[in-house]
Order: sequence, then C-alpha cells, then structure tokens
Amino acid sequence: MKKGDGDMYADQYRHISARLMRLDELNLSIQKVSGYTVEQLFQMFLSGYELKPPEYQSVENISKVVGAKVMNELSVFQRAIATWGEDAQMKMVLEEMSELQKEICKLWRGKDNRDAIAEEVADVEIMLGQLKVMLDIGGDVGHHKTTKLLRLQKRLEGQG
Ligand SMILES: [Mg+2]
Repeated sequence: MKKGDGDMYADQYRHISARLMRLDELNLSIQKVSGYTVEQLFQMFLSGYELKPPEYQSVENISKVVGAKVMNELSVFQRAIATWGEDAQMKMVLEEMSELQKEICKLWRGKDNRDAIAEEVADVEIMLGQLKVMLDIGGDVGHHKTTKLLRLQKRLEGQG
C-alpha cells in the first residue's frame, strides 16, 4: 500500500508528538531533581543566580540536612563498631593513619598522588569518627578544636 500525503503528515505528527512527550518527561525529571522547571533554571542561569538544591534553601533546612547527615554517620560508626568490635576498629585507626603517612611520604618523593591522599584522609576521618564514638570523646574533641583554632588564629594575627 502506497502512503498518501495524509499518511506522511500523520507519521510526522506522531514522530513530533513522541519527541515532545520525551522532552516533557525530561522536563519533569529535571524538575523532580532540581525543584525548578527548565524555564526557571534557564532564567536563573541567565540572571547569574547561584543554583542550590531545594533542600538547602533556608537556614532551618540546612541544619536539618546537616543534622540528618551527622546522625546517619553516627549510626554507621556505631554499627561498624558493633559488627567488628572495638579492638579491631582501634587497630584500624592506626592502620588507616599509617596508610595516610605512606601516601604523604610518596608525595614527598615527588609522586602526584593527591587522589590516593584524599582517599586515605577520608579513611582516617572515618576511623577518627569511630574512635570518638568508642571513647565517647566527641564533645571534648569539639571543645579542644574550637579552643585550639582560636589560639592558632590569635597567634597568626600576632604574626601579621
Ligand atoms: Mg586506607
């Protein structure tokens, strides 16, 4: 059967409407992820607006999100300690610190291993988090950190 002009137009119409539907779906998923319509994002982009995910739009939301992340981290630390035991996790603190030391030594020897260092810093931070939970010293560490940072800041200002 030969296609007439009407069929050709119908085919093109179906093709265009299918593409429009796909665009609509894309718009909807962009809106779902960012919280903004494509048009809004474009306007914001044109006006130089700093894009932030909707969850960070207010101070209350920031503290909620940060709080949830801290709680989540704490529960992962607690579960790790419960799973492998305090002894094993204490040893892991030292193991991860020595892995970081090793990578810093390689940097000194001229290797560009910033990625490896970043990975080991993350490992050490995770293990220090568990150490604070195991010894229940999180609050004390925070206190010392604030005091020491202030002291350091004063010393640096004195240098100027
Ligand atoms: Mg490691």
